[in-house]
Amino acid sequence: MNKCEFPGCDFISKYPNDFHYHHIVPQELKGSNKYFNLIHICQHCHNKIYVEGSHKCSKHHILRDDSITCDSIQHSTGGLILNYTILSTGEQKIHLLDTWREGNK
Ligand SMILES: [Zn+2]
Ligand SMILES: [Zn+2]
Repeated sequence: MNKCEFPGCDFISKYPNDFHYHHIVPQELKGSNKYFNLIHICQHCHNKIYVEGSHKCSKHHILRDDSITCDSIQHSTGGLILNYTILSTGEQKIHLLDTWREGNK
């Protein structure tokens, strides 16, 4: 069973094809394929991630009211956390990534 890691999304599916891996540092900028550069999200949420200057992936340059940027993933005492920014307000937030990483490494 897989769960979307996007902040506030509860989407769960047993079908891997329902999900994408989003690269925090884009592949076009030599971003890693390792877990610390990836978040596992549903296709719906992928549309909410904005990457400045991205042109390879058609999703990432569309700015919406609910767009966020994924800034980094780091280790904390509670596990891995995603640092992200809500673009409409400039608010910087964190989100605990606690799902597929434990069981599906
Ligand atoms: Zn992406
Ligand atoms: Zn989602």
